[in-house]
Amino acid sequence: MNDLNNIKTVEDNIKAAAFKSGRLPEEIELVAVSKTIAADRIKNLFDNGYHSFGENYVQEFTKKQEGIPQINWHFIGQLQTNKVKYIVNKIYMLHSLDRYSLAQEISKRYAATGETIKALIQVNIGKEEQKGGIAPESLIEFLDKVMELKSIEICGIMCIHPFKEPEECRRYFVEMYNLFQNAKDRGYPINNLSMGMSNDYVQAIEEGATIVRVGSAIFGHRIYYR
Ligand SMILES: *Cc1c(COP(=O)(O)O)cnc(C)c1O
Repeated sequence: MNDLNNIKTVEDNIKAAAFKSGRLPEEIELVAVSKTIAADRIKNLFDNGYHSFGENYVQEFTKKQEGIPQINWHFIGQLQTNKVKYIVNKIYMLHSLDRYSLAQEISKRYAATGETIKALIQVNIGKEEQKGGIAPESLIEFLDKVMELKSIEICGIMCIHPFKEPEECRRYFVEMYNLFQNAKDRGYPINNLSMGMSNDYVQAIEEGATIVRVGSAIFGHRIYYR
């Protein structure tokens, strides 16, 4: 297992991409996507100073979270409304706020605890039918609606872009950056742009990502057991 070497290589690449685009490496957060990866491997990286991990499935997440609650857990998968109760007060940030009914349920559950949740709005940047997310042209309208919900702190936007060659993904990253910048220019207090995965996090950073979600480049190919 070369997880530690791999994550250091990813970090080096993040640094290089940051400098190339005139930014500081500290402006970019690496979320190690650990879905399907055993808890002892996560713990090993945690013990070596890596504190941000991303999970997709509620059941798997809650088990791992109980084992290592100190981690900053990012929930990045599609979240069913009836499973919101299992993640309340357990995650550092939700990346996949993709519909208003989910926002309402989250707001209700968090309000009951007196806590707030940090969330990113998922944008369906490739307008793909099989993917969740808000249509790019509806982002501002959606922002206005969810920012009314008091227990949700909207921190930015996220996308799962169409699966293509890294250089072909740039156009989606540019579109996301433009949406992000436009919202900021209009005064929405958002600071996070989550985009880019193992194949294309360098391109994503060069186009303005502040969070990259990297799984297989750290942990190798995933073996799905479901
Ligand atoms: C699995 C996953 C990733 C990581 O993908 P890799 O290609 O393994 O880096 C990133 N984001 C989301 C939403 C994912 O589901």
